Amino acid sequence: MIEEAIQPEREERLSAERAYELYWADVLDGDATFLCTGNGCTARLICACLDKPEQNLRIRPYFRSRRLDDHAPTCEVAHGKAGAAREKGPDVFDAERPRDHFRERAPSAAPRARTSAPAAPRASRYYRLSSLVQKFLEHRRDGDLDTATVDMGGETLTYAGLFRNVYRQKVADLTGTRAIWWGTASLRATREGGYYLRFSRAFRHDDADLHPTVTLTARDIEAYPVRRLLRARLDKLIAEGGRCVAFLWARPWMPKDAESPFVRFYVDNLDHIDVRGMEILEALQQTSRVR
Ligand SMILES: [Zn+2]
Repeated sequence: MIEEAIQPEREERLSAERAYELYWADVLDGDATFLCTGNGCTARLICACLDKPEQNLRIRPYFRSRRLDDHAPTCEVAHGKAGAAREKGPDVFDAERPRDHFRERAPSAAPRARTSAPAAPRASRYYRLSSLVQKFLEHRRDGDLDTATVDMGGETLTYAGLFRNVYRQKVADLTGTRAIWWGTASLRATREGGYYLRFSRAFRHDDADLHPTVTLTARDIEAYPVRRLLRARLDKLIAEGGRCVAFLWARPWMPKDAESPFVRFYVDNLDHIDVRGMEILEALQQTSRVR
């Protein structure tokens, strides 16, 4: 698996996750060219899973070459020294994308992506929560949630501390806690062209179980650059019965003095919600203890 490639038309070195976003934002064609970033290497790469709306532990975007022989003998990407661990900083999650994130082309003043020296491995930068969920699943499988870290707004957090299951937690103590809240949920389309999610696991409040809900409006979705991917994922889950695992970067919200209390999540940026098929739970239960 190769994580980065050069996209010559955009003159850009990009991760497979970014290629995937650009494809689903209709900025990159499905048959775009990708080249190896290795020293002296011009091997053509394929971006696997580029057109797959769903992602899980087996399906995620990555680059690969057709044959190992395609790479130059000097290419360290293909012929990297075995055992030389790649030192990497924490992953970085940015709450907002740079304004030019979905630009059609790199600005002409930008430095050329290809340099003669092999670039040092860089920390991965993420804007879509889905990319971070993918990392969470991989760390949970690998059993290093307590040590793997992610940088969010200048704070370095472990994946174990950042991801929190809503199940049976006392919501009154948590309305100020912004975290990646997750749990199983049911999903349906709304009449106006949006979506409605209700968690099947509940927060605790006094003696009551409060199932948080989320509404995604058609209007917000239309304004979202990666809406084609979001709709494809959600519609596929609804067609399969609507059971899902939802992840949201948000604070639980509860009205101050409602007669019957309830909990909602508000998502002001659709990059901050991710909804997956139930198979991710099954895959995780086989590989690690459920937290
Ligand atoms: Zn190469």
